[in-house]
Amino acid sequence: MNKKVYKVFNEQVQAELYSAYMYLAMSLDMEAKNYKGMAKWLYLQYEEEREHALRFVKFMQDCGVQPQLLQIDMPAADYGTPLNLFKKVLEHEKYVTSRIYDMYEVALKEKDYAAQSCLKWFIDEQVEEEANVLNIVSHLRKAGDCAILFMDAKLGERES
Ligand code: MG
Repeated sequence: MNKKVYKVFNEQVQAELYSAYMYLAMSLDMEAKNYKGMAKWLYLQYEEEREHALRFVKFMQDCGVQPQLLQIDMPAADYGTPLNLFKKVLEHEKYVTSRIYDMYEVALKEKDYAAQSCLKWFIDEQVEEEANVLNIVSHLRKAGDCAILFMDAKLGERES
């Protein structure tokens, strides 16, 4: 793995762990506001982001390099209403997508075919991620207070 590719992969481990940390903070916020279904959905998202970080770690190890763990920023504690929170999630996932695209550019430039292959999984994952969240945001926009409680129950049905 060359230096440029190493740098962006290493920084993405940090970014995925920050995502995990942010989703855990969001889950705690929704739990405190008694939206238990949303808290559960966000907790599962926290677990998924940890898996993303570990997927990058494993890939780097398989390439024979050791990831260097970087500092993780403190996430906000209060995200306002469920709609505000999920708007923030959408914005965050779009940012993550742009990071993955930038990484892919580096992998292309450096002719690192293994890195390109690894990143393809993440490119597909981000399409799904954004579609899911866009759907939630659009429903929350239409929903009154009563429907938000219904959505809370729906999101609580997520299993993984
Ligand atoms: Mg992720």
